[in-house]
Amino acid sequence: MLISGLQKLTLLDYPGRVACTVFTGGCNFRCPFCHNAPLVLPDRLERDNNGEATVLAFLRKRQGILDGVAVTGGEPLLHRDIDRFLTEVKELGFRVKLDTNGSFPDRLRALVERGLVDRVAVDVKNSPARYAETIGVPGFDLAPVRETVAYLLSDPVEYELRTTVVKGLHTRESLLEAAAWIAGAREYYLQQFKDSGDVIAIEGLGAFNAEEMHAFADAVRPLVPSVQVRGVD
Ligand code: SF4
Repeated sequence: MLISGLQKLTLLDYPGRVACTVFTGGCNFRCPFCHNAPLVLPDRLERDNNGEATVLAFLRKRQGILDGVAVTGGEPLLHRDIDRFLTEVKELGFRVKLDTNGSFPDRLRALVERGLVDRVAVDVKNSPARYAETIGVPGFDLAPVRETVAYLLSDPVEYELRTTVVKGLHTRESLLEAAAWIAGAREYYLQQFKDSGDVIAIEGLGAFNAEEMHAFADAVRPLVPSVQVRGVD
């Protein structure tokens, strides 16, 4: 598995846990608003061939200090051998949160069924009609993401769904269509877009302000009562 980064402490990435964050390299999406371009674009990927061993050695020293590991990307499920890495993390006694863009439902299901993940966070990028544009992949077949969302809505594991809301890609209507798709989700967050300064393609994109974000949440709430706004300034 290609590991491209380790944040040694986070109180945000794994809700309710004192955790570290492991960043895997590579992604099959090209979301123009992605703030992790160095984890996505092949010519910018940092390759640490010893990454897994480094992370596992770090975790051995943090047993009893940290209680969770958030695995994010890039797209972690691109890596077929992620199960081997997560098995070792679980054997060390950590809880695992996995972030995924939802395009590998079979791999996700297998990890959940083997008890290798304790919480899953899936991006619902936009309405089905605007999905391909929002992820920067023309002609994208949404079927795998639909399968992932349907699986999580059946409540097999603790999960959250979230949408990063971007001016230029999202509208009230597109958010309502996305909400209709995920109606009744256990946890749903509308996240404010932030320009990290290293976004894949920032032209024409921007952030909605706090008032606009809360107005979107109010519009969505009849369909998804759990909706909350996250990360507003
Ligand atoms: S936002 Fe997530 S899914 Fe989109 S390109 Fe970046 S890492 Fe991939």
